[in-house]
Amino acid sequence: MGLFDRLKKGLQKTAKVLNTDVRDLFRAGEILNDEHLAQFERRLIESDMGVAASMEIVEELRKKHRGRTVVVEEIWATVQSKLHELLQGQENVEYDAENPLAPLNMAEEGPTVILVAGVNGVGKTTSIAKLANLLHKAGKKVVLAAGDTFRAAAVEQLTMWSQRIGCDIVTKESGSDPAAVAYAGCERAVETGADVVIIDTAGRLQTQKNLMQELEKIYRVIGKKIPGGPHESLLVLDATTGQNGIIQAEVFSGIIDATGLVLAKLDGTAKGGVVVAIRQKMGIPVKYVGVGEQIDDLQVFNPEQFAAALVSE
Ligand code: GDP
Ligand code: MG
Repeated sequence: MGLFDRLKKGLQKTAKVLNTDVRDLFRAGEILNDEHLAQFERRLIESDMGVAASMEIVEELRKKHRGRTVVVEEIWATVQSKLHELLQGQENVEYDAENPLAPLNMAEEGPTVILVAGVNGVGKTTSIAKLANLLHKAGKKVVLAAGDTFRAAAVEQLTMWSQRIGCDIVTKESGSDPAAVAYAGCERAVETGADVVIIDTAGRLQTQKNLMQELEKIYRVIGKKIPGGPHESLLVLDATTGQNGIIQAEVFSGIIDATGLVLAKLDGTAKGGVVVAIRQKMGIPVKYVGVGEQIDDLQVFNPEQFAAALVSE
């Protein structure tokens, strides 16, 4: 399956709802009126796109199609191009779906450090494995650092992934200081001439002060070993929890200076529209999206393809 087909498959729950909505509401040959638009706006909001984005899409439809005979394909085209615009954002990020390295800030010299954080169970470890696999396949030498020392199972989980991918991993016994694991991971990357080190962390809530301080320490320690690091601080959000992610993102971002979002589990929700809301409300670009549990179910976020997949059948 090609990249776009995988994305489409991952987004099919959301796309199906949008498709049904459009087909229900806008019937070919009818004149498009305010009632149609009001109903469509409600449904967009239900897809978790957020009120502001939903209003913008509906305004665009009003401008272009109100009072005219409905042509479903034209309505789709308007929705898709508006979605593309809303997802694009202002940052200078390269969204090349074919190049897994495109959205990453790489170190000019020495290993690039990627710190990964987020709430429990959002998909951090799985996303790290998927990202490591993408980079490994692109010819990069990757080291993983099993910084979730809180649960022994977490270290095992990442170790299994590293074996499957065929990349290096640094672990310490459970209960160790996660900052020490992060430091050791950076050290290993320097010693072995690795290109990228990806640091896993235990899940934590943005309200847990001690754990947030611990995360801050991990962040600082990395910079001590590798000046300029971490070059990427990725915050993983679970798409199935909808707009809660926005609050998490704001707090985490203050601690690790998040440079990008990974939106996992988009395949598990009919409310994939949340990407639009997140994109609109936050100054942090979405860099990768998780669309399944398999190792190659992580993709570089590409606004144009994402918009196309959202409205495709
Ligand atoms: P962590 O606690 O944040 O490290 O979360 P894990 O990476 O351990 O993932 C928690 C669960 O979510 C696991 O069962 C993963 O297989 C699942 N998961 C992670 N990413 C995705 C995704 O993109 N799609 C689906 N369907 N499941 C995912
Ligand atoms: Mg984990």
